Amino acid sequence: MKTQMVDLRRQYNRLKEDIDQAIAEVLDTTAFINGPAVTLLANELAAYNNVNHVVTCANGTDALQLAMMALELEPGDEVIVPAFTYVATAEVIALLGLVPVFVDVHPDTFMISVEAIHHAITSKTKAIVPVHLFGQCADMEAIMSIAERHNIFVIEDTAQAIGATYTFPDGTVKKAGTMGQIGTTSFFPSKNLGCFGDGGAMFVNDDNLAKKLKMIANHGQSVKYYHDIVGVNSRLDTLQAAVLRAKLPHLDDFSIRRNKSAAYYDSVLGKLSSLSIPKRAEQSNHVFHQYTIKCLGFRREELQAHLQEKGIPTMVYYPVPLHLQKAYIHYGYREGSLPVSEKLSSQVLSLPIHTEQDEEQLFFITSNIKEFLELKGLA
Ligand SMILES: *Cc1c(COP(=O)(O)O)cnc(C)c1O
Repeated sequence: MKTQMVDLRRQYNRLKEDIDQAIAEVLDTTAFINGPAVTLLANELAAYNNVNHVVTCANGTDALQLAMMALELEPGDEVIVPAFTYVATAEVIALLGLVPVFVDVHPDTFMISVEAIHHAITSKTKAIVPVHLFGQCADMEAIMSIAERHNIFVIEDTAQAIGATYTFPDGTVKKAGTMGQIGTTSFFPSKNLGCFGDGGAMFVNDDNLAKKLKMIANHGQSVKYYHDIVGVNSRLDTLQAAVLRAKLPHLDDFSIRRNKSAAYYDSVLGKLSSLSIPKRAEQSNHVFHQYTIKCLGFRREELQAHLQEKGIPTMVYYPVPLHLQKAYIHYGYREGSLPVSEKLSSQVLSLPIHTEQDEEQLFFITSNIKEFLELKGLA
């Protein structure tokens, strides 16, 4: 049986008619740059997310960079970021000459630790970047209240959690990426809303900030050839926007399908004491960009090898926390600085999860996991 981490082919086949037609329309008009689909997508996504503006750009990493530029963060400013995340989150901080201040995460939900944020705040702190890792929202109620108290910005990295919702204690429900000053996302093909190449976007409620993001993404101009500020070139292709427009109406269904797979995994793997299934964060739902287990008391590489032999891929997101990466260690960290992130990096294992999984595949994967644990005497 063939299993994959993500089955883009089967999803495309299922939605082929709509996607092919959307692509054909772009080819017909040849409006490859800033064609009508780009604005239409931005509007539809703004409506979906219940946010005032969506500004599209070339990828999720650019979205983070544009956000930090638009908020006028300056060299030497400190930005608090979790150590257990994808590198892009910290990369743009370093690239802009800002100082990444890495903090630890919660051992069960993998979300940035609110207590750690408290300890990390200094007079130089200008922003916090919570990452809605693996598909659920960080503790935004607490994060927004710290940020407001200290007058610092919140940029939500929503690359893995588009469509997730967070419920505040007063009952207000908001979409991931719409709670801080700016939310950023990625349309990388394997993300929950993926295009057929690179793409990204920013979610923003403030009108002026939206204007500024647009300007910076477009060479610092709002009138062609008049450059008011230093910008970059970061655009979403019309073709990618067209693909995304065809897929956006299915995003909630994608989340439901991912949750079905997660529920299946939970029901089987939740009974095994040497594995820990993903804990749901309070106040957030989960869109399961990843289904990530922790391997307790055995080497996960052995399980990975066993599954690989059966043709079942698994991935380690992420094997080295950012504060210990060669490129970032000079900010003053060492082994032991952030023990939770370090431990998680040795325990986590992400299993195949996508919108096209059937019970047969899930049975095959979970049976082989059980078989490994039985062979090892760990079941
Ligand atoms: C994918 C991802 C990004 C970067 O997105 P790209 O479109 O690949 O640049 C940023 N942050 C997180 C958490 C991601 O998973």
